[in-house]
Amino acid sequence: MSNGRILVIGGAGYVGSHFALHAMKCGLQITVMDNLSTGHRAAARDAEFVKADLADESALREQLSKMHFDGIFHFAASCLVGESVANPSLYYRNNVLSAYTLLEAMRATGHDRLVFSSTCAVYGEPMQVPIPEDHPTQPISPYGRSKLTIEWMLEDYERAYGIRSASLRYFNAAGCEPRDGLGEDHRPETHLIPAVARYALGLVDDLVIFGDDYPTSDGTCVRDYVHVTDLAEAHVKALACLEDVPLIRLNLGTGAGYSNLAVVEAVGRIAGTRLSPRRGPRRPGDPPKLVADASRAANLIGWKPSRSDLERIVSDVIEWFSRHPNGYED
Ligand code: UDP
Repeated sequence: MSNGRILVIGGAGYVGSHFALHAMKCGLQITVMDNLSTGHRAAARDAEFVKADLADESALREQLSKMHFDGIFHFAASCLVGESVANPSLYYRNNVLSAYTLLEAMRATGHDRLVFSSTCAVYGEPMQVPIPEDHPTQPISPYGRSKLTIEWMLEDYERAYGIRSASLRYFNAAGCEPRDGLGEDHRPETHLIPAVARYALGLVDDLVIFGDDYPTSDGTCVRDYVHVTDLAEAHVKALACLEDVPLIRLNLGTGAGYSNLAVVEAVGRIAGTRLSPRRGPRRPGDPPKLVADASRAANLIGWKPSRSDLERIVSDVIEWFSRHPNGYED
């Protein structure tokens, strides 16, 4: 597959840009398509870049008619649980409708390989942890429902039209590649590790830990953090696997969980400062514990995360914000 040509939709966003970097290093020819609504032009680096919205059916068809892609990678989505509860319309349009538009454009232009960013939010409140792929899917947010709806569409499109796809259910994407100029720059920043790192570096005055009365060892939520370049590696492997397996669903996580306070402790230790965050109420929609059973990814595509220890993740994020206190504006 090296030398293959791929389309990376949402390749200027956080996960998409790290994937594009990794794919380039693997020798793939990249075209990035992004509407820059949340992504950053600089994050797409020197890849061929098309500024277009995925919902713009004619721009998409034009792109797919112009050249053939050996794989299409779809990262462009709205992805905040709280926002999805307040504004589900955005999630059904940006996620479900855009995926439909993409699938129809693929059908019309003879493209039949898709790797799709899904999420552990498709499971809802876990009944069993670590969570295997055959755990019941009962998402509790419009975000999780929108992603599960797309997974169902992919199943139907494979059966009826032969469009092969891999749905990769991310646990907590984290870390970055500061030495290649890639980091995290979400506005507003709602994710734990960048929020704690910014606090530790004095870039923000406040840090609140949402809830300390969960049924976990220290009362705070537990999450499975997986380095974004490990995620990227899984996408390349998933595309190769589509050759033999037409419909793939995989958890991408490490199987290890860290509590929010353990993350605060690690960031403080690595930044060389003692952190005392405020304690706040629970954030609606947060399950107590999300940890992946990722054995299927190991068995099916030979994926084993190698960059996902918490020290490495936190060090990358601290380095990024030390070099780029204003994110991609620096
Ligand atoms: N969290 C927190 N303070 C923050 C941001 C996040 O306590 O400023 C908590 C959040 O409530 C959850 C965990 O950190 O328990 C991970 O949240 P994040 O948004 O990073 O990822 P999620 O698991 O929601 O995808």
